[in-house]
Amino acid sequence: MRVLVVADVHGNLAALEAVLAAAGAVDRVWCLGDIVGYGPRPRECVERIRDLAGPACVLGNHDAACLGRLPLDGFNPVARYALRWTMLQLGPEHRAYLESVPETFVLGEVTLVHGSLRAPIWEYVLSSEQALASFALLRTRLCFFGHTHVPFLLSEAGAQRGESPIRPGDGTVVELREGRYLVNPGSVGQPRDGDPRAAFAIWETDQQRVTFRRVPYNIEAVQAEMAAAGLPRLLIERLALGY
Ligand code: ZN
Repeated sequence: MRVLVVADVHGNLAALEAVLAAAGAVDRVWCLGDIVGYGPRPRECVERIRDLAGPACVLGNHDAACLGRLPLDGFNPVARYALRWTMLQLGPEHRAYLESVPETFVLGEVTLVHGSLRAPIWEYVLSSEQALASFALLRTRLCFFGHTHVPFLLSEAGAQRGESPIRPGDGTVVELREGRYLVNPGSVGQPRDGDPRAAFAIWETDQQRVTFRRVPYNIEAVQAEMAAAGLPRLLIERLALGY
């Protein structure tokens, strides 16, 4: 089975469409949360993920905030502004899908979560110490997560030795045959590792192999849409910087 794994789409439909085109034929799509927030096309992104991933999706902090499950004052001012705008865009059918999505989802040997197993929608896993806390709670061999917007791969053995995570770039391929791993594909709609191209991963179950990929998309067109929608300038500018 060939699985497309996406995270942090954040209402960026152009980036999502570029990822879907670049991924080619896949058997499944798994989504690691934050479908909405920041970007100009939250409705279309929810519809695409709902139709492609179905139940294989977990709730992100921005998704939860749009459902009124998290206080908006936990977000920085530009994120809060974009969330208020996003809440006005979503219809009952979009909220119904987000309401249906759990905080963690287990598919065979893989657990999906937005942030971490310790705090499913809030914790940013960037270090081996944070990874160890999630490994201690992980009931499957593998965990795909998002939230940081930075590609990441670390084995449990590596985390126990205090090793730094791998920061996979475009074309990085890793076999995960033995051991337990935490894997973050990076963000589709708002990458924060200095590379503005949309990030995603392909998980091939037969080969037990994960491939990290980047794909360019029309950033200027998305920035123009955001400006027309009156979204904050900081959010518009960061797309081109990959931060
Ligand atoms: Zn996010």
